[in-house]
Amino acid sequence: MTFSPESLPDWQNPVIRGMKHVGGRVRVALWLIQVVGEDNPFTKAELRAAFPGDAQIDRRLRDLRDWGWVVHTSRDDPSLRQEEQRFVRAGVAVWIPHQTRPEEVGAKGTVNSAERARVMREDDYMCRICGITAGEGYEDGLSTAKLVLSRRDVSRLDGTTETTRVTLCERCARGASPKVDIPGYMSAVSQLSDLERRALGRCMKEGRRQRSEVEELWGLYGTLPASARREILNSLEGSED
Ligand SMILES: [Zn+2]
Repeated sequence: MTFSPESLPDWQNPVIRGMKHVGGRVRVALWLIQVVGEDNPFTKAELRAAFPGDAQIDRRLRDLRDWGWVVHTSRDDPSLRQEEQRFVRAGVAVWIPHQTRPEEVGAKGTVNSAERARVMREDDYMCRICGITAGEGYEDGLSTAKLVLSRRDVSRLDGTTETTRVTLCERCARGASPKVDIPGYMSAVSQLSDLERRALGRCMKEGRRQRSEVEELWGLYGTLPASARREILNSLEGSED
């Protein structure tokens, strides 16, 4: 959501009808919009300097995530320095009294257990990056995998953005949380030939664990001697005329 900074209560001295006490969460939300601005980085030192009287201001900032606000750390966004965070997007207008939190997100920014079970089931109970399942040992033999949910901001085809979750193992979850760009993905898909697009669709329907026939044949082709590769290629090109 984008709010125009001028139309909002002043972050330094917010007077809000229907709100007797304006808490740190509301003030830090207003500060993000009015001082930092969307897409801009800020440091913890700047945040603390803005709220010298509030020892809990870091926590107030984190609380905003439960209200759909997106603030990235250097873990989510490798272009940030360690002391920096980026105000990516505003969420619920917390300065308006009686707002409710987005449903999917429960207390402390964690998804509730039903939501968690649904995400894991839809992700086939495996890490979507490396494919490991819960309790399975890593190749280095040092530990077994534990699955966690990781946040993802998804740009959708209708132009909206939603924050959702994906199942990862703890190791893969330590990496960045790249923004998921569906329009970009679809524009790359549109560059494929009809044949490739159909093959891709088949892979998607069958799931990543089953290799498609195209992949199978391509893998085998690479292992063949040059004369065999030439003969197959010539025959294929001949059959396309
Ligand atoms: Zn993994």
